[in-house]
Amino acid sequence: MNWDDTPEEAAFRAEARAFIEERFPASYRPAGEEEQSLEPEDVAGYNWPVDRVAGDPGRREGARAWAAALAERGWIAPHWPREYGGAGLSAMEEFILHEEMMRARVPTVNGIGAFLLGPTLLVHGTEEQKARHLPAIAKGEATWAQGFSEPGSGSDLASLRTRAVRDGDEYVVDGQKVWTSLGQYADWLFVLVRTDPDAERPHRGITFLLIPSDAPGVTVRPITDIRGAEPFCEIFFEGVRVPVADRVGEENRGWYVAMSALGFERAGIGATIKYEQALAELVGYLRSPEGARFARTSPALRQEIARRRTEIRVLYNLARYTVSRQAAGEEPDFEASINQLFGAELHQRIARTGARAFGRSAALWERADAPLGALFTHMRRDSVASTFLGGTTEIQRNVIATRGLHLPRG
Ligand SMILES: Cc1cc2nc3c(=O)[nH]c(=O)nc-3n(C[C@H](O)[C@H](O)[C@H](O)COP(=O)(O)OP(=O)(O)OC[C@H]3O[C@@H](n4cnc5c(N)ncnc54)[C@H](O)[C@@H]3O)c2cc1C
Repeated sequence: MNWDDTPEEAAFRAEARAFIEERFPASYRPAGEEEQSLEPEDVAGYNWPVDRVAGDPGRREGARAWAAALAERGWIAPHWPREYGGAGLSAMEEFILHEEMMRARVPTVNGIGAFLLGPTLLVHGTEEQKARHLPAIAKGEATWAQGFSEPGSGSDLASLRTRAVRDGDEYVVDGQKVWTSLGQYADWLFVLVRTDPDAERPHRGITFLLIPSDAPGVTVRPITDIRGAEPFCEIFFEGVRVPVADRVGEENRGWYVAMSALGFERAGIGATIKYEQALAELVGYLRSPEGARFARTSPALRQEIARRRTEIRVLYNLARYTVSRQAAGEEPDFEASINQLFGAELHQRIARTGARAFGRSAALWERADAPLGALFTHMRRDSVASTFLGGTTEIQRNVIATRGLHLPRG
């Protein structure tokens, strides 16, 4: 397979690169330490939904100016049709745009809305829902969070218990969600609820609802993680009234809507570039005079780094393969699980290899004291979540085995 750009793709890449150079606001560059994100697709030092409401005015305005610049071109949601605020780009052009953004270390904007909910609404939403929600996402004016997981219902999502009872033209929602990424910064939530508790098969009794996060009866409680950060939250629903018009798809058929949303979640390029950059930093450091003093390169470590380099190439090829399937008009299926599985485990292997190079110095936590800013020490902590966010590796293996290889269940 030849992945070289066609002349048209090369021209688009140059256009994207020039745009980023010209329009990325200087005030939005992180001033201090570049904290990694738990989400492998995110660029270290940025968290756009948080930055857009940051206390620091430079950062806040920078985040908003970047969103406005991207929105001018429809590049917040590049693959959507123009009528909803997208740019109508092909899957390959979107891939190239994101590749360039990651290489320039600038963040994508409004990811959950643009890449999870938006594509789902384009497939399953009513015209009214599309007209109401898509332009606001594409301008960076409305942010969304995904309320699927519950205490006791993560991998076994179909067992979820948040109830919605029909009352005239409304549903009344009661229950709890957990691990909702950035839910405390979101204007809206897309939520799975149980509408038929007696359904013969649990996933046949689930409905997909759109709920404003400030609706009466919604309580959002941030969860503090090991870093002291609050990347996700618990959300409680008590008698929350949701118009039937805010249901996506049919009642009791929300599972199928959710599955296409998860399919969109698992395709991406960002992680590959991030790993490539981290490995390049490691290699550069090991070859520098400082690296010769503070790190160790043994034959075994060299072998290990070469293996990681090869695996990053494999991940890149998997992402290109997925995007070429999308370009042919197919929704990502089990191939996206292959990406997710391989990428998640690779994240942890890269972190381990990098930390190993520093020997005892890998125990230094403070970035200012540690060689290479403790990049891999922090990555080891952050990469723990990779193998369960967006579906655990065991679940991805199940998907590959059953949907990809058609192995018998049970
Ligand atoms: C950083 C982060 C962000 C997240 N963001 C969101 C979000 O925005 N919205 C949201 O809804 N959720 C979110 N989640 C939750 C995430 O989707 C769940 O953590 C995940 O689906 C696993 O569910 P669980 O934590 O309940 O683990 P469990 O499902 O309880 O799994 C525990 C262990 O059992 C294994 N296991 C379970 N079932 C099987 C099986 N059938 N076969 C083999 N092994 C099995 C699992 O692989 C795992 O190792 C987030 C999680 C993290 C870590």
